[in-house]
Amino acid sequence: MIEPTKIVCIDDFEPHIGAEAVERIHRKAKPLQDVHITHVNSTYYGGGVAELLSSKTLLMNSLGIKTGWRVIQGSPDFFSITKKIHNALQGEAIDLTERKKRIYEDVVYENVVRNHLMHDIVVIHDPQPLPMIRHYRKYGPWIWRCHVDLTNPNKEVMKYLTPYIERYDAVILTLREYKQRLKTPQRFFFPSINPFSIKNRELNEEEIDERLDHYDIPTDLPLVVQVSRFDRWKDPKGVVEAFRIARKEVDCTLVLLGNVATDDPEGEDVYNSLLEKREDRIIILSVQDTALVNALQSRAAVVLQKSIREGFGLTVAEAMWKGTPVIGGNVGGIRHQIQEGRNGFLVSSVKEAAERIVRLVKDKELNRTMGERARETVRKNFLLSGAVERYLDLFNSFETNYRIARKK
Ligand code: UDP
Repeated sequence: MIEPTKIVCIDDFEPHIGAEAVERIHRKAKPLQDVHITHVNSTYYGGGVAELLSSKTLLMNSLGIKTGWRVIQGSPDFFSITKKIHNALQGEAIDLTERKKRIYEDVVYENVVRNHLMHDIVVIHDPQPLPMIRHYRKYGPWIWRCHVDLTNPNKEVMKYLTPYIERYDAVILTLREYKQRLKTPQRFFFPSINPFSIKNRELNEEEIDERLDHYDIPTDLPLVVQVSRFDRWKDPKGVVEAFRIARKEVDCTLVLLGNVATDDPEGEDVYNSLLEKREDRIIILSVQDTALVNALQSRAAVVLQKSIREGFGLTVAEAMWKGTPVIGGNVGGIRHQIQEGRNGFLVSSVKEAAERIVRLVKDKELNRTMGERARETVRKNFLLSGAVERYLDLFNSFETNYRIARKK
């Protein structure tokens, strides 16, 4: 029998955040010992939310807070409607018929019937499980954590969802500029990365070579990489176009690595539409290999995240943590990670992206200094320890009429 690998704990973060911060986090966790919390979302795999929850729930448990994670289930119809709602929250039009609302609400209700949520605190992620709150007796605060880019949400969808949202005790959005007109108090939390996960831990050169060789990724030329769910909001076609323009000036290889989240029915089509763009130096891969994500982000000369909308964009912080400069779409959460021209580049067109690829591939010194600053930006702002501390502050702030307060 193999002994389980030790779970990461907050003390492990000391080299990155210092002893004082570690001590402070322990102190904030103390009043919450044995408090029972659950997170609910709609996919255990693919996309940033699953990525965040897998690390955060473990770290919370290591701090003595009993934190669970439930995933709601649904038919393809349900996920096709929730993806439309997600797209509408990011600004697209939606035809929200009674039939669609019925499927959405019925599937949510089925999940309510099979999930007994009597926790001290419940955190519901994104629109898919949002209406669950309607059917429960609350034993403590319920929080809605919305990860999408709410710069300009469709009014019809907001009107439909608002009565559900306002049943929550708090709403967490990623950025201050996503603030909505709601009666519920709103907080703003950046997501974060786990520096010890297989995706983000430091790899040596042999480990990187081994992963790249395994997928026949050539390393003779500089690598230009985008790692993203196959989703049109991530603009993979724009990445290919930018690469083609850049290649007229610098020789390099493009790798687009992507996956399809279980709650995103559009991914398959986006992937298929990219396949015709494959060439000798344009590699399009759909494999589920976290160490490959790490190897690509670590070895790349440049990482792109050319999104058109982006709630936050964990892939940006992941690459920056590896000291790789990122060219990001000038939207949403990417703007809060990249400072234009300092630790990466922000772009608004294919042409700009192409020009920045050329610069970063050609100018090694610029590439190195930007990469160093990028890593430092992530160390200061986007590590998991900081995200956990923000949650602890929120949990500790709830009023005394909840069961959790009696434990203080
Ligand atoms: N990801 C992955 N493999 C892939 C594509 C993406 O592991 O082929 C991961 C990526 O490393 C990141 C997450 O999925 O951790 C995507 O999160 P992000 O916030 O960038 O975007 P989202 O998918 O949530 O819109």
